[in-house]
Amino acid sequence: MKLHLFNISNFKVDGGAMFGVVPKALWSRVYPADENNLIVITLRSLVVETDGHIILIDTGYGDKQDEKFFRYVYLHGGEGLLNGLKSIGYTAGDITDVVLTHLHADHCGGCVRKKSGSSGYEMVFPNAMHHVSRAQWEWASVNNLREADAFLEENIVPIGQSGRLNLVDEEDELFPGFSIRMCYGHTPGLMIPLIHYKNQTLVYTGDLIPTTAHLPLIWNMSYDIESLKTIEEKRNILEEALENKYILVFQHDIKTECCTLEMTPKGIRAKEKFSFSEFLAGASL
Ligand SMILES: [Zn+2]
Repeated sequence: MKLHLFNISNFKVDGGAMFGVVPKALWSRVYPADENNLIVITLRSLVVETDGHIILIDTGYGDKQDEKFFRYVYLHGGEGLLNGLKSIGYTAGDITDVVLTHLHADHCGGCVRKKSGSSGYEMVFPNAMHHVSRAQWEWASVNNLREADAFLEENIVPIGQSGRLNLVDEEDELFPGFSIRMCYGHTPGLMIPLIHYKNQTLVYTGDLIPTTAHLPLIWNMSYDIESLKTIEEKRNILEEALENKYILVFQHDIKTECCTLEMTPKGIRAKEKFSFSEFLAGASL
């Protein structure tokens, strides 16, 4: 198995929305905000090469929407989706599988683009099967007022029409050494990948635990549809991760790519924080 982590882009999001009911006096000490109360977060994607598959986890925003849409996103920095892949040696055509943790715009938008020179859309990874949980696909297809800004038709419908959609029903091994957990608190059918590399397990925490600041059970995003479910799902995965010494990989944390865990009087918290390349360098056979 080969692994690569890269940052598609940074973007800005309202700090209050990222930390729900936690007062700014508390969260701003661990995750600083700018004068507009915005915080900078990343869009890290993981590429897993295993058993003949080249798997990309999540694809960032893409670039289909208009200037008005992106005015409040403040995309900046990062390597870009196709450039980031190129820098680790892959072309779009090499990707055999795209695993979409869920269908919110910042996670799936990059796998569909506008056709150049004509109207309509095309898939960015033409040879890839796109894996989405059935629960998320059905939920997003109906849509709802709370998530209407996040589930965008132009991101989702073309995936269904491509004939390259695999709906994932159960928590299972999707590929050798690559399994998923289903979560329902952030949005129904959020898939959290667990990757077994050498003798270690990585958890790509996605929107279940977007940053290290979200390790406390009650520090959750107000984007979550059902907070109590998020708390239980975090508790379960953190307890399992602590017991089995899993390594967490953060999609959205501007400072921290990976951490190990320890029990503290306040609950499970980060023990050591390190970069993904440090993890790869230290991973034993
Ligand atoms: Zn989300």
